[in-house]
Amino acid sequence: MTFSLPFPLSTLTPLWLRAEGWDRFPGLVHGFSGRVPKNAAEFSQAQGGDLTVCTVKQVHGDEIIMVNQHCKAWEKRPEADGMITAEAGLLLGIASAECVPVLMVAPQQGIVAALHAGWRGTLKGISARAIEMFTAAGNIDPTSLWVALGPAIGGCCYEVGIEIGESLVQRWHPSSLTAWRPHGEKGLLDLREINLAQCEQAGVPRERMQLVGPCTFCDSSRFASYRREGPSASRQLSMIGWQTEPSEPR
Ligand SMILES: [Zn+2]
Repeated sequence: MTFSLPFPLSTLTPLWLRAEGWDRFPGLVHGFSGRVPKNAAEFSQAQGGDLTVCTVKQVHGDEIIMVNQHCKAWEKRPEADGMITAEAGLLLGIASAECVPVLMVAPQQGIVAALHAGWRGTLKGISARAIEMFTAAGNIDPTSLWVALGPAIGGCCYEVGIEIGESLVQRWHPSSLTAWRPHGEKGLLDLREINLAQCEQAGVPRERMQLVGPCTFCDSSRFASYRREGPSASRQLSMIGWQTEPSEPR
């Protein structure tokens, strides 16, 4: 499996999880990292070889921006929680420490997206919005998309207020019984399950979606957790892009 990251990202952590089966897409580069220092995950750009890593200033919204080579000239990172691109040579990078990193790919059309889906962005429908953008950008049917949800706090550990859990369930109707469970005066929320439900309703077949990695709160030796570590928490870095221009159709 070829996976080469621009230096110095390649030195941040030895742990990079990949979506099962995505190595069959020629030229695709992707991975979900283990814990990396906060400042290493929130850089502006990193250049290495023919790859430029682009990140945005994440604000827990549902804004997704179309990224092209101009990201190399950004003086300041735009505020957004998702990026989508059809250009090779760019790696879209998302930092997270509890929220769900979402990677999407339409291999035949050569379009990828990376999202940061916390509960606020999930409630607003950031995953569904990304799927609509694939349709708009490449006339891509949602049934041809592949989706991977990376390491995030799980339904085992993510305690939130009743009003948050209920608003998400009422909006996105997850079929999984473990997506939301009342627990004392609060409840336990599985944000990845809510995003799966959201993608499924937007037309992506369940068998094209997968969860990658464990609950970040449970596995705190390998993964950063905002709830454990507070604002100075380390981060996970999740990335996706195309290594080179394809010489023939993918
Ligand atoms: Zn857990």
